[in-house]
Amino acid sequence: MSQKKIDFVPHTPAVLKQIFERRGIAPNKQFGQNFLIDQNVLVCIPDIANVKEDDVILEIGTGTGGLTRLLAAGSHHVFTIEVDKKLFELSSDILKLYKNITLINADILKTKHELNPDILSLINNWLKEHNQTQIKVVSNLPYNISTPVIINLLESGLPISFMVLMLQKEITERMTAIPGTREYGILSVITQLFSEVEIVKTLSPDVFWPRPAVHSAIVKVVIHKEKYADRITDYPLFGKIVHAIFTSRRKTLINSLEKLNLPKISREHLKGIIKDMQLDERIRGENLDVDQLIHLSEAIGKLKNPHQEIF
Ligand code: SAH
Repeated sequence: MSQKKIDFVPHTPAVLKQIFERRGIAPNKQFGQNFLIDQNVLVCIPDIANVKEDDVILEIGTGTGGLTRLLAAGSHHVFTIEVDKKLFELSSDILKLYKNITLINADILKTKHELNPDILSLINNWLKEHNQTQIKVVSNLPYNISTPVIINLLESGLPISFMVLMLQKEITERMTAIPGTREYGILSVITQLFSEVEIVKTLSPDVFWPRPAVHSAIVKVVIHKEKYADRITDYPLFGKIVHAIFTSRRKTLINSLEKLNLPKISREHLKGIIKDMQLDERIRGENLDVDQLIHLSEAIGKLKNPHQEIF
């Protein structure tokens, strides 16, 4: 990774405390503010993300800019989003000499189910103007919103090639969980639908200031080139089915599906589909892998709209 230059504000607890005190601010728990202060961990993240000169990167949660500047030093351009105005101002100062950073003071989420559309169009337009076809997401995500951010990023249509995320360890276990386990849920299904996930490293709470209560881990999320999701004809229907299964985990698959009251789909139809899939009639939906969920949703979709081709 080539280092382009520049000033150096060491991101140690002592220095950060001093900077915060001078500005009369304190880390805000509500925004999940735990800053990375371990220099070894900080420098290994751009390496894990294989950051290169021509990469465009999206970071969510600029914080004090400790990771941002390392990303900017090795890449073509960094978009970094910070919801907290005070931290946005602070990191704007720390990062002011870097010409390849776009700092945005906004909430990455519009709602729990949608990324901020202004940010998406800004990035998409920039990519188009600069003839760039891909973006990497590299981020120590705010832990309180990491699940909706990951799901919405995957579903956003942004041309993401790769994500390296620092997350609460429990969330990384959910992303990689296999069917039938307690951790397997909506996050597992959506993650595995779009990507291949690998837990690269676990981190102790000591690498952050302030020290969080939980352990963390770094995951590498490689987005499938041939999108699994492209095999889904009716994505909203797929979403509904997955939601129904995991919001009533103790119900059998057939009971969860029946509760959806899908037009033109009787219990007998559902029984037939489950039988065709060579599954036990009493199976719970939480035991289905992504392939089976796609198959199920396509079969139900075909009955709803009989003219649709099944893949
Ligand atoms: N990347 C930095 C900071 C991590 S802490 C580091 O590694 O040190 C997470 C950051 O995300 C905080 O600065 C917090 O203010 C910001 N944040 C929290 N919720 C956010 C949201 N909805 N949109 C954008 N940024 C958010």
